[in-house]
Amino acid sequence: MLHDRLAEDLYAEICRIPLIDPHSHINPHKAASRSLDDILGYHYYTELAHSAGMEQTFLGPDADPRDRVRDIVRHMNRYDNTAQYQWFLEIARTFLGFEGERVTIGDCTWLCDQADKLMAQSDWEQQVLKKSNLEKVFLTNDFDDPLEGFDTAKYVPCLRTDDLVFHLDKPEVRQRLAKATGTDNPGTAIRKLFEHFVHKGARACAISLPPDFSPSIGKVKEGPHAIFWILAEHCREFKLPFDLMIGVNRNVYKKGVHQGRDLYDQRTSLIQYAELFNAFPEVTFPISVLSSPQNQELVSYSWIFPNVVPFGHWWYSNIPAFIAPDLRARLQAVPKVKQLGYYSDAYKLEFCLPKYNMYRRILAQTLAEDFVRPRVATESQAIQLARLLLRDNARRIFDA
Ligand SMILES: [Zn+2]
Repeated sequence: MLHDRLAEDLYAEICRIPLIDPHSHINPHKAASRSLDDILGYHYYTELAHSAGMEQTFLGPDADPRDRVRDIVRHMNRYDNTAQYQWFLEIARTFLGFEGERVTIGDCTWLCDQADKLMAQSDWEQQVLKKSNLEKVFLTNDFDDPLEGFDTAKYVPCLRTDDLVFHLDKPEVRQRLAKATGTDNPGTAIRKLFEHFVHKGARACAISLPPDFSPSIGKVKEGPHAIFWILAEHCREFKLPFDLMIGVNRNVYKKGVHQGRDLYDQRTSLIQYAELFNAFPEVTFPISVLSSPQNQELVSYSWIFPNVVPFGHWWYSNIPAFIAPDLRARLQAVPKVKQLGYYSDAYKLEFCLPKYNMYRRILAQTLAEDFVRPRVATESQAIQLARLLLRDNARRIFDA
């Protein structure tokens, strides 16, 4: 909690702003959790427990979910110093009625039973959305997602394009693309995907990119660079922002848990994207990076390029130690109307609340110290600034 009275007051006000969460991995057909296994199966917990000595015995699909949960909780006393443990504690308190100081193995059965009971309620998803003050949540959809059977005004589709750019040489990806679009021609197929997604209310196109990727028009006529360029042209034509999540190096720890093998890579520079930013002044590029040195570069690019905007605090940089300086730099240097403050990146709805709270506490503290106390802004001006970061900019930039 905050121990600064002004920051605490700002935090309380900031929490009243309804959230537009502009990037998540929520499955709209199963948005909320149904058991504690859905919560603790999140890769952060399996990664942390594994890196602190837990074997992967119970992580396979055939293991008993309660055995898995018990093993992860049993190791919690080895990683209860982390920000991710705090997210879990906040979920246990807010959604499961946990009142203890610290979650230990002795709480495990009670928490599992409580989760089974509460999450079985028919309106659980609505309860979580309401408690979290979430108005819209952006999704990450495979290109062959039919986008049917859910409310696309609440769960906003977003076309994820990693497979198209980096795996189009694989027969199964080609087959999926042909099946989804009725054509073998990649150019025609991509056009059909954009038509389908935009028709279904998609508000962004997104991709994660390895550290050595450097898009260029003249480079090659086919392969990843050519496809990437075609995607950017379609973003221009269909007026979709193109979210770039830059610098992830896949499969660094080869024996890692599921989704726990990738790391960031310092060799990335945004200069690799200068040609792209120059070539597409009409396309907005919300940019996510993985480290504070990269954030400093992003701050400068967002300051200079009208079409480059800083986007949330991604993955390894999504802990208070890095959010605080990264946010402070953005607030001091990037036009306020360009900042997309935060996104949950969550796989289950219950994580939006603790992650946003972590961000909102830092935001409140930063506004208190850098804006209100030095009389750069009044309290209500500071709240207006927070509103841009948490809601209004996302609505305008994504037209959501
Ligand atoms: Zn993500």
